[in-house]
Amino acid sequence: MKLIFASHNANKTKEIGAIFQGLAQVVSLNEIGFFEEIAETGNTLIENASIKADAVYAATKLNCFADDTGLLVDALNGAPGVFSARYAGDEKSPEANNQKLLSELVQTENREAKFVTVICLILNGNKHFFKGELHGVITTEYKGNNGFGYDPIFMPTGANKTLAEMSLQEKNQISHRGKAFLAMVDFLKQNQ
Ligand code: IMP
Repeated sequence: MKLIFASHNANKTKEIGAIFQGLAQVVSLNEIGFFEEIAETGNTLIENASIKADAVYAATKLNCFADDTGLLVDALNGAPGVFSARYAGDEKSPEANNQKLLSELVQTENREAKFVTVICLILNGNKHFFKGELHGVITTEYKGNNGFGYDPIFMPTGANKTLAEMSLQEKNQISHRGKAFLAMVDFLKQNQ
């Protein structure tokens, strides 16, 4: 089975392709000559994943999927959420985003937060959604050099280090993205 992944990122496609090995061949948008940017105009992760999958399906009529992830901080009523990539501005700077988040929480005792990943799969014209969550706290200082985005200031519940102090393998075993994709793998195994 071939699945189009609604992403232009070759590295991300390769990483996700490895999860589906033996089950589906994952192909990026660039590989099928789809170069347009899809605007993420939704107000929720579900809407954004859906918008991206719809755009690819409308253009190709092929089986496809899209993911969207956000960091939801309790004390900020779920912000930055769908705005996680551009929390501190359209430059999408991870350092500026982290800095802004730490300063927003400087006086705050409740540092609970969660990463949420939503996947929208369109299979034979039908939509299916999968979700993965990772709960934890926002630390007060940066730790670790691995990973990306908010990893240096996010410590998962039950861990004694941040996501940026974990190896990719360690992170994938517990991560929001890992859980959402495993749910999709299980579904495909039962419905192939
Ligand atoms: P995307 O939907 O995967 O592009 O994620 C949107 C934004 O959420 C990213 O630009 C990051 O700021 C943040 N983010 C998503 N996943 C992670 C993660 O695993 N660690 C840290 N930050 C993440």
